Amino acid sequence: GFRPASRIASVSVSKILQIGAKAAAMKRDGLPVIILGAGEPDFDTPDNVKDAAKRAIDAGETKYTALDGTPALKKAIVEKFRRENGVDYTTEEVTVATGAKQILFNAFMASIDPGDEVIIPTPYWTSYSDIVEICGGVSVLIPCDAKAGFRLQAEQLEKAITPKTRWVLLNSPSNPSGAAYSAEDYRPLLDMLLRHPHVWLMVDDMYEHITYDDFAFVTPVAIEPRLKERTLTINGVSKAYAMTGWRIGYAGGPKALIKAMAVIQSQATSCPSSVSQAASVEALNGPQDFLKDRRDSFRRRRDLVVSRLNAIDGLECRTPEGAFYTFSGCSGVLGKTTPMGKTLEADQDFTDYLLEEAHVAVVPGSAFGLSPYFRISYATSETELVEALDRIERACAALR
Ligand code: PLP
Repeated sequence: GFRPASRIASVSVSKILQIGAKAAAMKRDGLPVIILGAGEPDFDTPDNVKDAAKRAIDAGETKYTALDGTPALKKAIVEKFRRENGVDYTTEEVTVATGAKQILFNAFMASIDPGDEVIIPTPYWTSYSDIVEICGGVSVLIPCDAKAGFRLQAEQLEKAITPKTRWVLLNSPSNPSGAAYSAEDYRPLLDMLLRHPHVWLMVDDMYEHITYDDFAFVTPVAIEPRLKERTLTINGVSKAYAMTGWRIGYAGGPKALIKAMAVIQSQATSCPSSVSQAASVEALNGPQDFLKDRRDSFRRRRDLVVSRLNAIDGLECRTPEGAFYTFSGCSGVLGKTTPMGKTLEADQDFTDYLLEEAHVAVVPGSAFGLSPYFRISYATSETELVEALDRIERACAALR
């Protein structure tokens, strides 16, 4: 029979995908399931971006491209970092891959030796630790609960650093918590890193364009240029431009790291999709005004979800600064019993109950390394959200 390699022994298809598959199967069976699990905007890719892709196909841009990004896309990325983040990278300091996910993969493959440690605050996007483990590294998970605003504190970081630490990985705004780091939140962490020169910083800015109210997005290198020589700044077009299926992510970082990442990519994919790169040039260089309308729409849904959740006895939801997720505490429903006579012991019991009895699919905090919580993705219509929240409210009221 098949014997899997040891590097994937502790890695499995993510719980999020498993829940999604179960919910989809229930839906096929005719049950009125509402899925609040999606990690992608429900908007369409903008027309100017689609048109750029069509033009690229017609112009014959359908062959292998330069290994880690076309000159046009690298230029657009350099300009994006300068214009939006106030950070100067050269074209040799930026790289393009098949999604930010491959950026993470290239970076860890290129930098981690067996036993090297990566510090990851929880709750976290599960792919982080799975990729680290596939690359032979060790994920050092640090719990950061709602009281801490789901943000890593400098003292926690200091305690976690060992001689084996290679990276600390921060994600702002965060999937799953929606929490984001302001310049003030980042400052003590960056000061701590200045004191530990062997530790590199990886930041995932994927949700940069989805922030609310007066939150001012900032990326660490803009705050602390002295860390630029050991920071990888990751971003992409998936979430901002509703381009998850185009599979383009990018990053800025020191030349030697970027070069090493290209070595990995050269033996994995040879280059990102030519057509998707042409589309991404248009996404970055084209009009950006639609982002505000989409942000406003996400903010209305966030406000709806947060206020409805907080009105439910047993649930507690912090108002997130960004992304399109809420991450709510559910300790108040644990210990209670469902109408079917099952006692809820962990957050997954609660989310199983919501799926099976209320037909609402959400993801338990355990899937993101922090319990007891659950994540709602509000990247869906207000009508569906209202119906889902009505059902969650009724399901909670039915607990004894
Ligand atoms: N980073 C975070 C925090 C995400 O939530 C996701 C997707 O869910 C990604 C990166 C991956 O993005 P991409 O589609 O570019 O691979």
